[in-house]
Amino acid sequence: MTPLRLAVVGAGVSGLAAARELVRASGEAGAPAQVTVFESEERVGGRVLSAEVRGQRVDLGAESMLVRDPSTIDTLRSLGLDGELVRPGTTSASIWSGRRLVPIPKGTSLGVPLHPLQLEVIRLLGPLGSLRAFLEPWLLGPTVTPDDPLGPFLVGRLGKVAVRRLVDPLLGGVYAGPAELLSAGAVAPHLLAALERDRSLLRGLRRQPPAPPGAATGFISLRSGLQTLAEKLAEGLEPSALRLRTPVSGAWPGPWGKVRVEASQGSGEFDGLVVAVPAPAAAQLLQGLAPELARELRRQRYSNVATITLAYPESALSRRPPGSGFLVPRFPGRVVTACTFMDQKWPHLRRPGILLLRASAGGHGDDWPLEVDDATLVTSVHTHLRRHLGLRQVPLEARVQRWAPALPQYRAGHLAWRDSVEAQVATLPHPVVLAGAAYRGVGLEACLRDGARTAQALWQRLRSAAPIESRGHRGDGHA
Ligand SMILES: Cc1cc2nc3c(=O)[nH]c(=O)nc-3n(C[C@H](O)[C@H](O)[C@H](O)COP(=O)(O)OP(=O)(O)OC[C@H]3O[C@@H](n4cnc5c(N)ncnc54)[C@H](O)[C@@H]3O)c2cc1C
Repeated sequence: MTPLRLAVVGAGVSGLAAARELVRASGEAGAPAQVTVFESEERVGGRVLSAEVRGQRVDLGAESMLVRDPSTIDTLRSLGLDGELVRPGTTSASIWSGRRLVPIPKGTSLGVPLHPLQLEVIRLLGPLGSLRAFLEPWLLGPTVTPDDPLGPFLVGRLGKVAVRRLVDPLLGGVYAGPAELLSAGAVAPHLLAALERDRSLLRGLRRQPPAPPGAATGFISLRSGLQTLAEKLAEGLEPSALRLRTPVSGAWPGPWGKVRVEASQGSGEFDGLVVAVPAPAAAQLLQGLAPELARELRRQRYSNVATITLAYPESALSRRPPGSGFLVPRFPGRVVTACTFMDQKWPHLRRPGILLLRASAGGHGDDWPLEVDDATLVTSVHTHLRRHLGLRQVPLEARVQRWAPALPQYRAGHLAWRDSVEAQVATLPHPVVLAGAAYRGVGLEACLRDGARTAQALWQRLRSAAPIESRGHRGDGHA
């Protein structure tokens, strides 16, 4: 039987999960398939990258995975990662108040303080800011639809100060974008669900059922760094199937309903194509095959960020601050947007005498880290960390990693945009699917799931599209 030829563009977590699923589905169906993964870089992983800093393998991109679905742990185990799984020593972070680090108040949901008169909330928002948020159950405020921006809704409910000092830093930590821009339904569906339970957002959130306890959910990472996840996903592929340093320049209609993939090497006709690259790159490579879809994909915007990992002598601090790190609200001249105390969050990274910090800089509309050289970036970050933490010595080692594009911005209207993209993909005359962080979640768990889900959709489509007949036209004589 002639194998189906399937192409995946992009060897990030989404593309690799898709490739793995295609291999699995073909094996299960006893229908041979040749899966080829094209990746422009010289390594797999995309926004996941682990590297040595001061002899420690640390993550310079994604550094933790929030597992909400217990089956994700089963997937990781099936990849042989059981012995690699690590849990954070602490996940309690702080926020920079302008003068000091204040622990994020307990019972905060994406920055919305459930109990605004708590001491920590007052320390962050001030008495008036806290009182304003506290009055929400009486004042109520605007309602919101899933495609509205989150910012105006939350400002109307809780006041500007709560959004600026609590919600924005937390959202920024995940999306590198502000509440005024991001889609309520895409980034905070639980806030909309709370409003269905009660007219008051705060009361609705307080009545939210607690997450079921279980060892199979929560934050995890891998002892050797999250890049091992990408490497393990890639291990399931034939060695010749992974084409690194091979950018795809375009996809075109091929004969017999196939897709012609133009790459720097290994161009050819494929029975199915998974496009698992950031939306602007997807737009570029689908321009010749689906110009309308390409136009739609171009509307997705990204933020750019840099991570700066710094190893200090432990004596640089007279006392380590507690917790996993801190977030910095937006203010003019902000340099560091967040800082993770890597060796406190991840105890396996702890080494005597060393303090391992990871700062983030940049984000939506703030591209300065891309425009300055490494030395300037490290010096600025160090200067600001000194202010936040009272560091008394300079770093022993620093590692800069710039990410552009880094994170898709799920702006107001994202859900409608995604529906429109999905509708266009479904009606394409060619077997093409889209996977990746641009569409259904930026987190690694979402990317793993999305890659597998879209690969399944492609596989079903190919299996139900009279494969015997189409393969009869292959002209390669291997019926
Ligand atoms: C700094 C940072 C920190 C993050 N932290 C976390 C975190 O702690 N937890 C979490 O869950 N998520 C985190 N994320 C988000 C998460 O890492 C990403 O959303 C996810 O890795 C995206 O995976 P992907 O496969 O969809 O895309 P990508 O990782 O972007 O992969 C796409 C791949 O396609 C390749 N490519 C692009 N164009 C072409 C082409 N024309 N031809 C061939 N190949 C091409 C790229 O080189 C890349 O390898 C973070 C992201 C960043 C940037």
